[in-house]
This record gives sequence, C-alpha cells and structure tokens, in this order.
Amino acid sequence: MTALILDGKALAQKTEQELSQRVAALAAKSGKTPILATILVGDDPASATYVKMKGNACKRIGMDSIQVELPSSTTTAELLDKIEQLNNNDAVHGILLQHPVPEQIDERACFDAIDARKDVDGVTCLGFGRMAMGEKAYGCATPAGIMRLLKAYDIPLEGKHAVVVGRSPILGKPMAMMLLNANATVTICHSRTQDLESHIRQADILVGAVGRPEFIKAEWVKEGAVVVDAGYHPGGVGDIELGPLAEKASALTPVPGGVGPMTINTLIYQSVESGEDFLA
Ligand code: NAP
Repeated sequence: MTALILDGKALAQKTEQELSQRVAALAAKSGKTPILATILVGDDPASATYVKMKGNACKRIGMDSIQVELPSSTTTAELLDKIEQLNNNDAVHGILLQHPVPEQIDERACFDAIDARKDVDGVTCLGFGRMAMGEKAYGCATPAGIMRLLKAYDIPLEGKHAVVVGRSPILGKPMAMMLLNANATVTICHSRTQDLESHIRQADILVGAVGRPEFIKAEWVKEGAVVVDAGYHPGGVGDIELGPLAEKASALTPVPGGVGPMTINTLIYQSVESGEDFLA
C-alpha cells in the first residue's frame, strides 16, 4: 500500500488564493481589511521567526497586521493591559499571543483575557469550551488545521478509532475534542499511559503530538492507518517514524509540509472570518 500524501503546503497555498479574494471583497465592500495583532514577549529567536512568518502570511493575502513587541521583563499586569487595549481597538479583528511567554507571566490568564471574538488562534478557555460543546468558536490553530487537512482529502472520521498521543492545551486536548465532534471514537494517550504501543496498534487515525523526534515507531502503526504527525524537529523529522509508513499507512502528513503549513494558514483563515464578522 502506498500512502496518500496529505499535502498541507499545497492546501495552504490554495487556501491563500481564496483568502486573498475574500479580503479583496471585504475591502471593496467596507473599505477596510482584517487586521491581526501579534504580541511577542521577549527575545526568543524561534518565537520571533514564527511571528514574522505569521505577519508575512497576512501580507500575502492582502491583510494587515500590527506587531506588538514587549521586553522579556514584562509583567502579567503589563501584558494584560496591552491585551485590553487591543480588545478595545476596533481596528483589530484578531489577536495572537505568541506562546511561550517568559515564565514570570501567567500565560493562561493572558490567553483568557483575549476577547473571544478576536481569539483567532483558539487559545481561550471560553473558546475551547464552546468548541467542545459544538458551538461556534475559533479552533486552536494546529488541531483545527489538521481537521481542515483531513476534510480537504475526504478522510472519513465517523466511527473510526482515533488515537491522539499528547494532551497539551494547544494540541492534543483540542485535537481529541475535534475528532470526537466529528464522531470518531477517541483515545487520548499521554506520558502516564500504560502500554502506549497497544493503544497505537488499534488506531485507524493516529495523531502524534508528543514533542519527541520519531518517538512513535512505524512498527506500532496498523496497516492502512491514517497518520498525522504534528511534530517538527531539527533534521526535518516529526514525532512519528514516517519513513516506513509510506508503504504501510493509507495516508500520512509529511514532515515538513504536512501539519506545519496548516497552522499559520488556519490562523489567517480564522482572522479573515473574524474580519468578515466585524466588518461585513
Ligand atoms: P507539549 O506541550 O510538550 O505536550 C507533549 C504531550 O506529549 C504531553 O501531553 C505529554 O504528556 C505527552 N508525552 C510526553 N512524553 C510522552 C510519552 N513518553 N508517552 C506518551 N505521551 C507523552 O507539546 P505540544 O505543544 O503539544 O507539541 C507536540 C508536538 O507538536 C511537538 O513536536 C511540537 O513541536 C509540535 N507542534 C507543532 C505545531 C505546528 O504548527 N506544526 C504547533 C504546536 C506544536 P503529559 O501531558 O502527561 O505530560
């Protein structure tokens, strides 16, 4: 069996063309374009690169972005103030707080201070709760991007056994809830799971979100499974040993070019939706 490649890069490029048209239509109608505000706290080079990539993605579709940069000594109160200003700024339609923030900051409090209508990265507890209840909410960008990728390739989820390895608030947990909402039967594995391998062997849909290079072995994966690898590590490997799965899985997300491009794409997708809600 040769695995179908779930090409996130191609889907992201195609979606950008559609988003450009939506932004242009909104500009023609309202005279305004959606604006995403990004907040970067501190000087972590990887975070700075991610924020720059997000600004560039906005530019490519004709959207504006505002970059807020705060020093690494920023307090929770100062960050909350800045978020409040952006919440109250009618010109801003989406707010992204780049994760992680320096450790003296209460990240959860700051995420939750983002107005849910502008939470285009899907990080607030309110957004998570609404999503879990099947109400309208912006999904957390990486798992929502994975769902968009699975949908684009018509991967059936209903009644399938999905196994999600990882339960972080930004990835594993919302991923599991989204798969449940799509009527999959979901198992969530984490660092205290006993006999991880036996759970993985039962997966029709496997999502690796562990944060360890090639931690999930190809040998554990069922023949014909759909394999989604959210990881990305130096050397271009993910959380799953993908090489041998090219001839064993029915479909897989490549690393790079699978899940990664869908994350930023989902952020701008949801920013355009928010802009349309505010401006249309
Ligand atoms: P994280 O916060 O470090 O969470 C890792 C999860 O893996 C935790 O839930 C942890 O369990 C679980 N885990 C750790 N060791 C395990 C083990 N031995 N067996 C089973 N589960 C284990 O990481 P994250 O932010 O969710 O990211 C996960 C991966 O996705 C990383 O490779 C990251 O680089 C990637 N990622 C990619 C994107 C993207 O845009 N493509 C975005 C975000 C993250 P406990 O909860 O028990 O500790």
